[in-house]
Amino acid sequence: MRYLVAANWKMNKTVGETLEYLDRFLPSVKDLLSVDIMIAPPFTALSSASIRLDAAKKEGEYNVKLGAQNMYYVEKGAFTGEISPVMLNELDVEYVILGHSERRHIFGEKDDLINKKVITAVETGIRPILCVGETLEEREQGKTLSVVERQIRNGLAGVEKDMAFIDIAYEPVWAIGTGVNATPEQAQEVHRFIRSLINEISKGNDSNTRILYGGSVNEKNARDLIKEPNVDGFLVGTASLDPERFYKIITEV
Ligand code: 13P
Repeated sequence: MRYLVAANWKMNKTVGETLEYLDRFLPSVKDLLSVDIMIAPPFTALSSASIRLDAAKKEGEYNVKLGAQNMYYVEKGAFTGEISPVMLNELDVEYVILGHSERRHIFGEKDDLINKKVITAVETGIRPILCVGETLEEREQGKTLSVVERQIRNGLAGVEKDMAFIDIAYEPVWAIGTGVNATPEQAQEVHRFIRSLINEISKGNDSNTRILYGGSVNEKNARDLIKEPNVDGFLVGTASLDPERFYKIITEV
């Protein structure tokens, strides 16, 4: 299985800042083909980033793909403010982050809506990264594994047979943007559980599914986290906003 290191920029970077970033970042990952790299800028910068990546790929070998941070599950229509999979396909967006904890907790997305998005992503050939993770309160109540199980079973309902086309990100809510990452042991416990769960629901068709860890990943803790047998890459927020820091994390994998 190829590891995946993904950048979720969230609501950061203008078009100009995105291009500036890529100018610094792309040379560092030229010919670095052993790891899958994904960058998810805001929607407004996807088009420029796509053109910039295309140009780079004409000049050399890059294993950098684009991702979207969200999408709606309908092709087109009266859905003010939403972005459709057709629009993402046009820009060669290959991944979409779905069910991120900020979508769940700030924007009220529920398992049912997230599931519709996952199904549409699979149908339209965009690789979903389904995010799951417990809040601090849920962890303290001993509910971590049951919350993660619910999010995975509901999020993947109907696409279990397509597991090979889906990645999972375990992002404990208490670790996101806090500077407090899960310890390698804490991450491994949940990742091991997720691996056995997706193995069961996909009937063994999960060998291409990466289970990423996300939540305060940085260039210092990446090495220890990736040593764990079921940590197959990272979904990085804050530390991915700096091209040098993101590159360092990639080199630890
Ligand atoms: P941080 O790396 O800033 O904790 O964010 C993690 C995250 O939410 C990635 O999707």
